[in-house]
Amino acid sequence: MDFELSDEQQLIRETARDFTDHEIVERARENDRNEHFDLELVAKIAQQGYLGAIVPREYGGAGLDYLTYGLVVEQVGRGCSAMRTVISVQTSLVCSSILRWGTEEQKHHYLPKLCSGEWLGCRGLACFLVDTDQDGFQPQTIHHKMGLRGSDTAAISLDDVWAPEDAVLGEVGDGFKVAMTALDSGRYSVAAGCVGICQGCVDASVRYSKEREQFGRPIGSFQLVQAMISNMVLETDAARMLVWRAGWLKDAGKPNTTETSIAKLYATEAAVRCANTGIQVHGGSGYVDDYPVERYFRDVRVTTLYEGTSQIQQLIIGRAVTGINALT
Ligand SMILES: Cc1cc2nc3c(=O)[nH]c(=O)nc-3n(C[C@H](O)[C@H](O)[C@H](O)COP(=O)(O)OP(=O)(O)OC[C@H]3O[C@@H](n4cnc5c(N)ncnc54)[C@H](O)[C@@H]3O)c2cc1C
Repeated sequence: MDFELSDEQQLIRETARDFTDHEIVERARENDRNEHFDLELVAKIAQQGYLGAIVPREYGGAGLDYLTYGLVVEQVGRGCSAMRTVISVQTSLVCSSILRWGTEEQKHHYLPKLCSGEWLGCRGLACFLVDTDQDGFQPQTIHHKMGLRGSDTAAISLDDVWAPEDAVLGEVGDGFKVAMTALDSGRYSVAAGCVGICQGCVDASVRYSKEREQFGRPIGSFQLVQAMISNMVLETDAARMLVWRAGWLKDAGKPNTTETSIAKLYATEAAVRCANTGIQVHGGSGYVDDYPVERYFRDVRVTTLYEGTSQIQQLIIGRAVTGINALT
C-alpha cells in the first residue's frame, strides 16, 4: 500500500489550499450572511480548472484522476461548502454523467462550456439534457436554508419543455443507471468535501485553543480540550483514508459503489460530529459567525441528507454484505 502522494498531487493540493485560503475563505462569511451566490468566485474556480476537474483535457477539463480531484474538493470544502457543492454538482453529477453516458457530439457540445463555467449545470434524476433558457424550465429558488446559503438551491419544474432526441443521455430506459453512476461520483465528492470540513474544524479548534486563556492558561492545555481535538483528528484521518480508498478504486476502474457509500456515510457523519465538537471547543464564541465553526455546523448538516441519506448508505452497505436488498 502506498499512501505517498505524487509530486504533482502534492502541488495540486498546495495550489488548492492557497487558492482556498486567499479567494474562498475571504468571501465565505459575507456570502453566507447575504445569501449571495457568488458568480464571480465561481468564475475564478472555473479558471482554476476545478469545474469538470476529472474531464479529459480534449473536452476542456483538467484531466485529473479521482484521487487528485478529491484532494482539491477537500481543500475547497474546508473553505466553503457552498462553493464545494457547486464543484460537486458540476463535476461529479453533471460532467461525469455526460462523460460516462454521452455521445461524442454531446461531450463536445456540453463539456467545454460546463468546465469553463459558461454554463452551470443542475441535477435531477433524468436522463436527458435540457436547455435552461426554454420557457417551460421554471426554477423556484428555495430561501431560508439552514446552511449552504452561499449557493443557490431551487426546485425545478419542466412544463412542455422540448428535449430533442440527441439530448437523451445514454439509451432511453437507462435513466436509473445514469442516475446511479452520477451518485457514485457525487457521493465521493461530498465525502471529500466533508474531510475538508473535518480538517477545518481541527485547524480552527487548534488555533482557538492556543489563543483563548481561562484560569490563567490556554484552554489547549486542558486535557479534556485536547481529548476533543484528538477525537476530531482521529475522525478526520479515518474519513480521509476512506475517501482515498474510494478514489483509488475509481481510478483503478474497480467496482466501488459500496466503498463510496462507506466513505460518504462515515465522512459526512464524522463532519457533523467534528462541527459540533468544534463549537464545543470554542465555547460561546463558537455560536457566533466570527469563527468558521458556526458555518461549518450549519453547512455540514445537509451532507447526511443529500446524495442519499445516511440511512440509504447503510442500506447499500447492508445489501452488499448480506446479499439482501432492503431498498425495495
Ligand atoms: C440544500 C439541498 C440541496 C439539494 N439538492 C438536490 C439536487 O440538486 N438534486 C436533487 O435531486 N435533490 C436535491 N436535494 C434533495 C435531497 O437529495 C433529498 O432531500 C434527500 O435525498 C432526502 O430525500 P427526502 O428529503 O425526500 O427525504 P425522505 O426520503 O422523505 O426521507 C426522510 C427520512 O426517511 C428515511 N428513509 C427514506 N426512505 C427510507 C428507506 N427505504 N429505508 C430507511 N429509511 C428511509 C431517510 O433516510 C430520512 O431519514 C437537496 C436537498 C437539500 C436540502
